[in-house]
Amino acid sequence: MKDCNACGKCCIKYGGGGLTASKQEVQAWQDDAPHIAQYVHQGEIWFDPSTQQALNACPWLKLNPNGKGYLCDIYYDRPDDCRYYPSSFDEMLRDDCEMVEAKDRRNPKQAHEDLVIIMRDSWQ
Ligand code: SF4
Ligand code: SF4
Repeated sequence: MKDCNACGKCCIKYGGGGLTASKQEVQAWQDDAPHIAQYVHQGEIWFDPSTQQALNACPWLKLNPNGKGYLCDIYYDRPDDCRYYPSSFDEMLRDDCEMVEAKDRRNPKQAHEDLVIIMRDSWQ
């Protein structure tokens, strides 16, 4: 299994209405990151702060200026939904995650164990 190459597929797939945030996360944004909290509407993410309309793409997903993939503009404050992704090998297969290698498809059990090691810091 490879490291994440920031291809952005997961953020593109889930960033436009496929994410949730906990009450604690929303409260933390309201307390410490109002620029993020303004994109929350009735506990849901992500909404246009002006119109309160649901966005069809994550407002924090940016092209990497170096031309290689994407960046998350709120990486250290991103919701747990993002922090814990990918959470399983099945999910990676379903989403065509680019961390997956041919050998992972041949041995899904080992692939999941490799994922646990790669994600150890993010999942803490
Ligand atoms: S908040 Fe960050 S990690 Fe989550 S979908 Fe948006 S750009 Fe991706
Ligand atoms: S789909 Fe996989 S490789 Fe692409 S950004 Fe998401 S986790 Fe990284």
